[in-house]
Amino acid sequence: MRVSQLFNPTLREVPAEAEVVSHQLMLRAGFIRKAAAGIYTHLPLGLRVIRKIEQIVREEMDAKGGQEVLLPIVQPAELWQETGRWDVYGPEMFRLRDRHEREFCLGPTHEEIITDLIRTEVRSYKQMPLLLYQIQNKYRDERRPRFGLMRGREFIMKDLYSFDRDQAGAMVSYQKMYDAYIRIFSRCGLKFRPVEADQGAIGGTGASHEFMVLADSGEAAVVYCPACDYAANVEQAESHPRPVPSENPTGGRKKVHTPGAKSIDDLSGFLNLPKSYLLKALLYQGDERVFLVLVRGDREVNEIKLNNALGGFVQLGLASRETIVKTLGVEAGFVGPVGAPKGMEIVADLEVALMNQAVCGANEVDFHFTDVVPGKDFKIDHIFDLRVVEAGEGCPKCGAPLEAARGIEAGQVFNLGTKYSKAMGATYLDENGQEQLCVMGCYGIGVTRTAAAAIEQYHDADGIIWPIPIAPYHCIIVPVSLKDEAVAETAEKLYREFLTLGIEVVLDDRDERPGVKFKDADLVGYPLRITVGSKALANGQVELRDRKSGQTDLIAVGTVAAHVRAFIHNALEHVGD
Ligand SMILES: [Zn+2]
Repeated sequence: MRVSQLFNPTLREVPAEAEVVSHQLMLRAGFIRKAAAGIYTHLPLGLRVIRKIEQIVREEMDAKGGQEVLLPIVQPAELWQETGRWDVYGPEMFRLRDRHEREFCLGPTHEEIITDLIRTEVRSYKQMPLLLYQIQNKYRDERRPRFGLMRGREFIMKDLYSFDRDQAGAMVSYQKMYDAYIRIFSRCGLKFRPVEADQGAIGGTGASHEFMVLADSGEAAVVYCPACDYAANVEQAESHPRPVPSENPTGGRKKVHTPGAKSIDDLSGFLNLPKSYLLKALLYQGDERVFLVLVRGDREVNEIKLNNALGGFVQLGLASRETIVKTLGVEAGFVGPVGAPKGMEIVADLEVALMNQAVCGANEVDFHFTDVVPGKDFKIDHIFDLRVVEAGEGCPKCGAPLEAARGIEAGQVFNLGTKYSKAMGATYLDENGQEQLCVMGCYGIGVTRTAAAAIEQYHDADGIIWPIPIAPYHCIIVPVSLKDEAVAETAEKLYREFLTLGIEVVLDDRDERPGVKFKDADLVGYPLRITVGSKALANGQVELRDRKSGQTDLIAVGTVAAHVRAFIHNALEHVGD
């Protein structure tokens, strides 16, 4: 492709509407243009990236026995009413009516459609396992679509659905997909972690992993073990109690005057005690119930764990100031479990139950109790793992210190169990002629999101740094001046040679200043740049620059194609193994 003919409108300025790097760079480098909020047109270079990711996904799905289908975008409401999700999905679902006033939606996902297909077509255990997938547009009417392809209202996903005769079979399918996902993200050239995950809104039973592409801008915090394969979303990561070295209890609690010491920091300074000796007491409201929740002063409450442990509220959050004053008769800051009103449920983290010299609010302005023994000076109704895990803590599997990172969820694997087959009657006959429910799994990869995540992971001040496997083109040839005949001729000759060798190459044949060409090449993120200039050419050489490392080498014109080919070959071979 010649840049003079390439439809690649680049922008010098950072578009005001774009908040995240991937969105800014995709607009600036001419990969996408906005059609409406959260809805984009993919321009030629952007689409090449998408198609490459799709191809990697397709090859790995096929390698595991997946068969590609194409399910409809427009789906009838009746199927969604069967599973109850027509109501559950709420305003995120794009809904429409046809000329006969029948209701439809634009598919946000495809469990209903595929389960309908299977219940009609699968009769016998002999027809399973069955792995069907598609690469298709999905629609979610986000309240605030933003971040470009990271959170669009229309996006491309690969979704595979597995159907097995039993849970053991479903776990075999699950493992196949887990392994395929490891290969897919490796082959895309991305740094990622599979993390244990919550099942979220799709529901079901059993295992689930999220595949997180690591990036500082990622919305999810994860902890992972550098020594073994343990990794988990911070929201899910289990913590193990780490008791503080206990001193001899002084015997009996004391009430101390702590004027103005409302925060953990104030109190720790005032009493000259480490925060790990203090009790953090927070009043939570879950639907109509209130709880006094206790963690150590140096810890944070993990509200997801709290909600799961208490059985799952529709709404769970810190109680309002009014509720605190009404319930405990004192402002937050002096709240504590000792002398809490009768009937108040007290929920403590595992570590709290191990304290023997705690400090807590006295439910009286400017007073705290010291030398409090949890379980003796106050009752504990529930003891759970409630706190947020921190980097440096021991891995729950092997004990090595955990590391923290941020990630972008680009894929997820779910074991769905029989949730959908039960709701929709997807059954088969086993060897004994008995009717059984199909056991399902679903496996998604955000294709457009993976492209955005790759940019979040690989960019610098000048633009995108595409990993070779998903770069729109592998290299660009830049003749410094077209007026120099030798330069123009050599560039043209190399371009033709590269094409013959099957190298994905772009020739910047525009009559522009070299600075403009270099800037555009860096912005678009071509992995390799071959610069043809008169000075080096006088010695029979051209310059080869690696976009990622910035390394520049002078190479003989006659061998540059071999160098480029080896570089690309190496990058494509050594991922995913
Ligand atoms: Zn470990």
